[in-house]
Amino acid sequence: MRSKNRFFTGLILLILLITSCDNNGQSAKKLTSLSQVNSSQNLTQKPINQFAWRPIKHDPSKRYIYLTFDDGPQNGTTACLELIKKLNVKATFFMVGSHANSDNLAKLVREAKADYPQILLANHSTSHANNRYKFFYHHPAMAAKDFYLAQNKLKVPYKIIRLPGNSAWVIDGSTKATSLVKPVCHLLDSSGYNVIGWDVEWSFNHKTAYPVQRPYKIAEQVDSALSRNHVHTKNHVVILSHDRMFRKDNFTDSLAKFITILKKDPRNVFETIDHYPGLRF
Ligand SMILES: [Zn+2]
Repeated sequence: MRSKNRFFTGLILLILLITSCDNNGQSAKKLTSLSQVNSSQNLTQKPINQFAWRPIKHDPSKRYIYLTFDDGPQNGTTACLELIKKLNVKATFFMVGSHANSDNLAKLVREAKADYPQILLANHSTSHANNRYKFFYHHPAMAAKDFYLAQNKLKVPYKIIRLPGNSAWVIDGSTKATSLVKPVCHLLDSSGYNVIGWDVEWSFNHKTAYPVQRPYKIAEQVDSALSRNHVHTKNHVVILSHDRMFRKDNFTDSLAKFITILKKDPRNVFETIDHYPGLRF
């Protein structure tokens, strides 16, 4: 009886040994074939284009929030970029070519660009019209050139522009703009650019550049614009703010509070402006 038990125990051990050898052999084979696939992929695979634009399907039960920050790179840009990443939301930075006038500021532009698809770099002109808006827009060819220069200098990935000092919309040939900026809008449209305005502005004090509305107040304004359909496109709200407003810790904290309030509503989805409906690339 005992010898019979020993025989069965020996038989089981032998089977286990053969199985484990076989598994090891298969694993090794799998590893070899995987590394072959990987190495052949490395040889033939094209590098992934970070900016190969991928459309998204908008969910009609959601509300899309486009946080936009204008006039960077400037004091406040780093705080905004870091916070956006920390809170894991998406945002768009409309930057100004002439502001990237030092190594550190130019580096901020490159950093923002490298963070796509979470952060999108977009075009806010070269000169910001030198803050002489009437003169700028009365010379539409010169103004258009100012945008094209910024597009090249900042290496903006998509043809998306926000006009300095003016909320205008040009989306796939459909224009909503004041008579002052219509001529430049038509030029930009004929060159394939999208122009993005805003629905709600988080205003700033023009002496201090500090935010005017408290976080809960601006969150209420966003909610109200969406629920009353006071937006350019139903269920999509574009929020204008400026990097410099949030350069001090207490105001970076205000921005964090605002985003946190918006995040609590499960209908809200944060997107970059390239995913606004109807844009063309
Ligand atoms: Zn601006």
